Parts: sequence; C-alpha cells; structure tokens
Amino acid sequence: MRFELREEQAQIREMVRSLARKEFAPKAAEIDEQVRYPAENLSRLGELGLLGMLVPASYGGSETGAVAYAVALAEVAAGCASTAVGMAVTNMVGDGIHRFGTEEQKHRFLPLLASGAATGAFALTEPSAGSDAFGISTSAVRDGETYVLNGSKAFITNGTRAGVTIVMAVTDKKPKKRIGAFLVEPGMPGFSIGKAEHKMGLKGSDTVSLSFDDCRVPVRNRLGEEGEGFAIAMSALDGGRIGIAAQSVGIARAALEAATSYARERRQFGQPLAGFQAIQGMLADSATELDAAFLLALRAAYRKETGASYTREASVAKVFASEAAYRACHRSVQIFGGYGYIREYPVERHLRDIKVTSIYEGTSEIQRIVIARNLLR
Ligand SMILES: Cc1cc2nc3c(=O)[nH]c(=O)nc-3n(C[C@H](O)[C@H](O)[C@H](O)COP(=O)(O)OP(=O)(O)OC[C@H]3O[C@@H](n4cnc5c(N)ncnc54)[C@H](O)[C@@H]3O)c2cc1C
Repeated sequence: MRFELREEQAQIREMVRSLARKEFAPKAAEIDEQVRYPAENLSRLGELGLLGMLVPASYGGSETGAVAYAVALAEVAAGCASTAVGMAVTNMVGDGIHRFGTEEQKHRFLPLLASGAATGAFALTEPSAGSDAFGISTSAVRDGETYVLNGSKAFITNGTRAGVTIVMAVTDKKPKKRIGAFLVEPGMPGFSIGKAEHKMGLKGSDTVSLSFDDCRVPVRNRLGEEGEGFAIAMSALDGGRIGIAAQSVGIARAALEAATSYARERRQFGQPLAGFQAIQGMLADSATELDAAFLLALRAAYRKETGASYTREASVAKVFASEAAYRACHRSVQIFGGYGYIREYPVERHLRDIKVTSIYEGTSEIQRIVIARNLLR
C-alpha cells in the first residue's frame, strides 16, 4: 500500500495550490463581502481542465480521476470556498452525464462543462423535501416526444448560470412512485429562476430556487431510463460527498494556517500565543483531525477511481471531514480571540463557510443513517 500521490496527481496539487494562493485567496474576502459570484475563477478552472476532471478526454475532459479531483478541490477550497462549491457541482454533473448519459448527451453537454463555457447544476431538493429526497413532488408527465415538468426546487447551487441542470422529477405515482432525471437547459419555456438566497457563508456561490411551469423537456434530454432518476441522484451524491469532504478539509486547512501564523505573531504575557500549551493543543488537534479527514476522503476517492463500492466510505469521509473541519475552524477563531470575530481577519469567514458542509449533499444525520444501514444490513 502506498500513501504518496502519483506524480501527475502531485503535479496537479502543486499547480492548483499555486493558482488558489496567488489568484483565489487574495480575492476571497472581497467576494464574500460583496456577495459576488467569482465568474473569473470558474473560467480559470475551466481553462485548466479542472471542471471536467472526471470526464474522458474524448468529451473534452481532463480525465484526471477522483483522487486528483479531491486533491484539487481541497486546494481550491483553501483559496476560495465559494469557487470550490461551483467547481464541485460542475464536476459532479459532468460525472453524472458521463456515467448515465447517451452518446448524444455526452457530446452535447460534456465539452461545455469541461471547458468552463457553462457550469452544471443538480436539482433534487424541494421546499418540502430535503433529507427525504424520495419525497419530492415535482412531476414529469410524458406527452409524445416531451415531458411536461411542474414544480419547484430549492437551494440549487449554480442554478442561475448553469448551462445544464439535472432535475429530478416524479414520472409515476402508481402503482409505484418512480423518479426520472432530466437535463434542463436555460431558456426552455416554463423554466424560471427564482431569488438568490442570502446565506451565512459561501456568499459568492450562486444558490437559487427554480420553477417549472408546464416546462417542456424533450425525451432526448432524459438522463438514464425512466424511473432510474433516484438511483442516478443517489449515485451522483455518493461521488459528490467525496468532494464535500475534500472541500471541508481545504477550508479548514486555510483556517488552521491562519491560526498557526497568528499564534506565532501575537504576544500575551510576554510571549507568543504559540508558547502556550493550550494553544498548541488546539493547533495539534486540528492538524490531527484534518489529516484523518483527508485520508478518509482520499480512500473514498481511490475506491471510486478503482471501481470499488464507495457509498459507505463517501459518507464516512463526508460526516467526519465536515465535522472535524467545523471544529478546526471554531478553534481557529478561538485562537484569534476578539480578532477572530471581526471581518479584518479570515477565520470568521472560514467558520461561516464551513457550516454548510455538514448540511448539503446530505446532512450529518443522513450520513450516519447511510453508515448504520450499511453496518446493520
Ligand atoms: C448553500 C446550499 C447549497 C445547496 N445546494 C444544493 C444543490 O445544488 N442541489 C440540491 O438539490 N440541494 C442543495 N442544497 C440543499 C441541501 O442538500 C439540503 O438543505 C439538505 O439536504 C437538507 O435538507 P433540508 O434543508 O430540507 O433539511 P431537512 O431535511 O428539513 O432537515 C432538518 C434537520 O432534520 C434532520 N433530519 C431530517 N431527517 C432526519 C432523519 N430521518 N433522522 C434524523 N434527522 C433527520 C436533518 O439532518 C436536519 O438536521 C443546498 C443547501 C444549501 C444550504
């Protein structure tokens, strides 16, 4: 067993680390303050092949695999968390279309996503159905060569700008409820974008509601078979959770680095904070937990890349990483004292950004259900 990244994976890490430090991190506070979508960052990611990392080269992707993707996403998140979530969802949508799409769909959408010409969105959550994803009520009724979609979706990342949105909708209620997945494109009649949410963190990310009012989607835009949509959504989320684990580690690593430098500089009682064992303990706990979190994320990514099952491992990584990262961000604010609580320093932003990682793509409670189900079956 080897713990080192392969050479090309290590090169990707260095390239993305340098990009995130030089280009993304210096603007992250301004993006947060101005609640500004970082379009230029997403374009850079597209140029560098970082939006189609799970897509084969024949469809315009960079085909670097799940491990390199987790490594790259952690680096981007350390620079700008809002950019990282846009990157994560676009890669997830590309992966979903690659795994479940027709040749025609792959040729139509994957080059757009991989190049950054368009981002992708994934629309499962509804106002009345979050954790209970099978409880969605948006409907898709077949009418000749189209499906007619009615309903609404909530909290959709990249929703405003997406070139393609995978929308889950109910195709049959009886005798058995069945859900389909549909590739909805901007401008389709009856498809509209609602208001942007005012969020605690990830303020640069695009989070909106979507409405479908007799929205006609051609049958050729159905992803997978009719009734396969729920399985497609769950499978996409398994992969997405590896990304959220990596994103968590990246955000918290930035908070830990800030706290470590601050502890070296700030003096109290005639010595740097770093000289106090209580502060050292906090730094050490964060470093330990983030190492463990990243190894769990890489294990899940490695299993995905090598074709092994990874549902359980993705949930384990996601719940552990998001919660460990939250603790690390919380400790970093503590180490900054009062200065941690004000906007001039980055750690309050990291704490606001990290919170959602234990909520989206399945809350911590849902991850524990997935893990326990696996244990108890
Ligand atoms: C910034 C942001 C971006 C998002 N992006 C997307 C996106 O791109 N696409 C998308 O489809 N969704 C997206 N979401 C939605 C997100 O996935 C949901 O918010 C999440 O799944 C939780 O659903 P909910 O908010 O309806 O909470 P609820 O399901 O109402 O849960 C409320 C609480 O009850 C707990 N709970 C619920 N059921 C159980 C149970 N069985 N056992 C124990 N506890 C339970 C939950 O864990 C939680 O603590 C996003 C959300 C946010 C905030």
